[in-house]
Amino acid sequence: MSEKFVYFFGEGKAEGTGKMKDLLGGKGSGLAEMTNLGIPVPPGFTITTRACNHYYDHNETIPDSLAAEQKTALERLETVLGKKFGDSQNPLLVSVRSGAKFSMPGMMDTILNLGLNDETVEGLARLTDDRRFAYDSYRRFIQMFGNVVLSIPKEKFEHQLTSVKAQRGYRFDTEMKTEDWKELIEGYKQIVQRETGNPFPQDPHEQSNMARDAVFKSWNNDRARYYRKQNRIPDDLGTAVTVQAMVFGNMGETSATGVGFTRNPSTGENHFYGEFLTNAQGEDVVAGIRTPHPISRLAAEMPEAYEQLRTITTKLEQHYRDVQDFEFTIEKDRLFMLQTRTGKRTAAAAVRIAVEMVQEGLISRDEAVLRIDPAQLDQLLHPVIDTSETLEVIATGLPASPGAACGIVVFTANEAVETVERDKLPVILVREETVPDDIHGMDVAQGILTARGGMTSHAAVVARGMGKPCVAGCEALHIDEEQRIIRIGDRIIRSGDYLTLDGGKGQVIPGKVKLKDAELTGEFGILMEWADSFRRLRVRTNADTPRDSAVAIKFGAEGIGLCRSEHMFFDQQRLPVIQEMILARTADERKPSLARIKEWQRSDFEGIFREMNAYPVTIRLLDPPLHEFLPRREELMVETAEIKWKLEQNPDDREELEQALQSKQRLLQRVDQLHEMNPMLGHRGCRLGLTYPDVSEMQIEAIFEAACNVQSGGIKCQPEIMIPLIATQEEFHMAKQQVDQIAERIFSQKGVRVLYLTGTMIELPRAALIADDIAREADFFSFGTNDLTQTTFGFSRDDIGKFLPFYLENKILRKDPFVSIDRAGVGALIRMAVEKGKSMRGNLKIGICGEHGGDPESVEFCHDLKLNYVSCSPYRVPIARLAAAQAALKEKGQRDLSRAQL
Ligand code: ADP
Ligand code: MG
Ligand code: MG
Repeated sequence: MSEKFVYFFGEGKAEGTGKMKDLLGGKGSGLAEMTNLGIPVPPGFTITTRACNHYYDHNETIPDSLAAEQKTALERLETVLGKKFGDSQNPLLVSVRSGAKFSMPGMMDTILNLGLNDETVEGLARLTDDRRFAYDSYRRFIQMFGNVVLSIPKEKFEHQLTSVKAQRGYRFDTEMKTEDWKELIEGYKQIVQRETGNPFPQDPHEQSNMARDAVFKSWNNDRARYYRKQNRIPDDLGTAVTVQAMVFGNMGETSATGVGFTRNPSTGENHFYGEFLTNAQGEDVVAGIRTPHPISRLAAEMPEAYEQLRTITTKLEQHYRDVQDFEFTIEKDRLFMLQTRTGKRTAAAAVRIAVEMVQEGLISRDEAVLRIDPAQLDQLLHPVIDTSETLEVIATGLPASPGAACGIVVFTANEAVETVERDKLPVILVREETVPDDIHGMDVAQGILTARGGMTSHAAVVARGMGKPCVAGCEALHIDEEQRIIRIGDRIIRSGDYLTLDGGKGQVIPGKVKLKDAELTGEFGILMEWADSFRRLRVRTNADTPRDSAVAIKFGAEGIGLCRSEHMFFDQQRLPVIQEMILARTADERKPSLARIKEWQRSDFEGIFREMNAYPVTIRLLDPPLHEFLPRREELMVETAEIKWKLEQNPDDREELEQALQSKQRLLQRVDQLHEMNPMLGHRGCRLGLTYPDVSEMQIEAIFEAACNVQSGGIKCQPEIMIPLIATQEEFHMAKQQVDQIAERIFSQKGVRVLYLTGTMIELPRAALIADDIAREADFFSFGTNDLTQTTFGFSRDDIGKFLPFYLENKILRKDPFVSIDRAGVGALIRMAVEKGKSMRGNLKIGICGEHGGDPESVEFCHDLKLNYVSCSPYRVPIARLAAAQAALKEKGQRDLSRAQL
């Protein structure tokens, strides 16, 4: 038997189910499931994603058996409804809808009212006794079909409509009379003839096949591809096509169409939430052309349909055990459901919903923790407006996506991208309304502001998905793109002016406003507590200052995994002393500057130890090459030349200038000496410490003096001294000897002992290869995955940008290896180093401190390798905690599964 490509749904029964998203797409499987649940859904059938893949694999042709299956399904649909395709008396009209496994809002186009032609439109008019409605439907169809299937720009149709309206002196579409629509239809048909060289197709079967193929094709349009790339959705899933009987929300005042969520997708509040428009069809609500009404008004206008909607959507939420995002249409007081799917939500909403659903007994704690996308938590950690200031709110729109954003005003997506790339400035994208083609601009913007559209408009939905603040439907806004200004009342905001948005309140505030960090309490705290109870991995932070340490502690860090001891050198006040140290030619000359630096380091370490209050603190000894602390060669050369020129011009200041010249020349000489062809692989890491032992001595003394002082004050200290860039066992041996000697000396000076560890960063392939030898003396390993990735691939992190986009585009790399650990290569080295290290020293402590420590996939990898901890930047600590919990839960799930199979 040949493969089944068509799945029917109708009359209370569907061939598909809610579990068949792969095959039927999200929309098709949702419609099947709702049908099986006895929910009123217009009947229809879904053509599978496999048919779409066949279409692409076979030179844009459909499988042989598909035509026959489609015919059978269509006949069945005709029988069920007692209507016929192309029948002038009682025509069947359908929508042709796309739907992939993962919802791609607005990415692919739906065609409504298919089956209309010059004859059936008359039938529809007679049947409904509403000529105006019939013609309106027909012109919508020609426009949609013309645009989506025949690729005629929408504007061509819109201009025509505008000019008819102008001729008649109308302002609104609703003023158009039957005869006006009729005339418009003729105009539309001429546009089709002109643009395609063919008349508008009159045969409904031809229409439907063309529409089906257009849906298949839309899978590969630019918007869809871009969205998939952004959301890491594979390109080979394909889309399903659903052909479904039309119901009409535009049949007068007892008809309506709307969308909604079972809970508020922005805040998570358990509160029925949605919008509708009376006498409207489908896309009118989402397109932001008319601003819709809140769903509560439906309760007053159509109480019965409203009650039924509440009952159905509650049932759906219970059934799917998650928030549903649904679409419905009411045709003459009769309710039909057109779509249901898991509702996209902001991070704040996701957390609140998960916690409340546990409290309601709908889901378990495990499920709640597994449901939150760790990367999404980022949104919650982002700033909000600092309320200590009084704000001037110049306009208020809908609070479409929470969080605060501040940037300069730009009017187009391209301008947004240019400004961000060229001027490195944050931008707020201001649009009348956004369309899918604006996505690249939304992507780089801090926030989005639109003048029209509701909470479910394109801007709102996409912004929430991206976790960006958005204020939508801000009607006071008059955008003048030509003049490049926004008028709000008599106030004018120009392109390039700063604007601040509060997406949680819907407020627009002129200028730059102070933002502050979010508070992590309430549901967030509860969820993180649950996560902590599941995870095995510890989470530390990379912090270089007492201030970072305090932030990290607030976010739940359990120690410092990487304190870059040289970070403290960059301070404006300190840098000259550091340079003095570097300029010194002998250890004796270096002494005075080293002594001053030591004071600073010690007090910084003391601050960090105190903040970390008994948690372990890993301090890495000096790592970067020394030239990084000196001015750039080119700058020095320019400055020297300038002084020389001045010397020629004003002999008066001779003495002063000559001194300046001397010191610049000395610097330049040293810069030249320190110059390296390839500093990343040069004189840095332990190579520095070993060749300038007085510098590492200063650092080690500062660490132990600080630890002894803090410990004497009653706070336990756990310093872990980390030697960077080890490649040989001898390097480590030598460095460790120095640490131990100095430690003993300080302990006896201070009369206190502090427990400490000495270990290394594994960040060179050679270190991984000889990890067992290194573990003879090392108490711990910390994988420096940034350098390990650089040296394993031979990619420089600073230069990868030149070819990475090409590599990703062409799938030479699946992911940026600096974001997510390359398991096959770098991961293999890590795995080997763990095994070798542990074979030598059973209790070897192992962690990771590269950027990867905050990447959920890499955290899972670390969990699987049974590392002790991951360390990441303070703001990513909660993300790592959640990712670690999920890794543990997934492992538990697999254990349970294999036990059940035994
Ligand atoms: P999208 O994936 O962009 O949401 P849909 O296929 O859901 O596209 O279609 C958009 C809108 O078109 C729906 O929300 C619904 O209002 C309308 N629509 C689709 N099919 C029908 C139908 N059979 N009858 C009435 N309206 C429909
Ligand atoms: Mg939809
Ligand atoms: Mg390194």
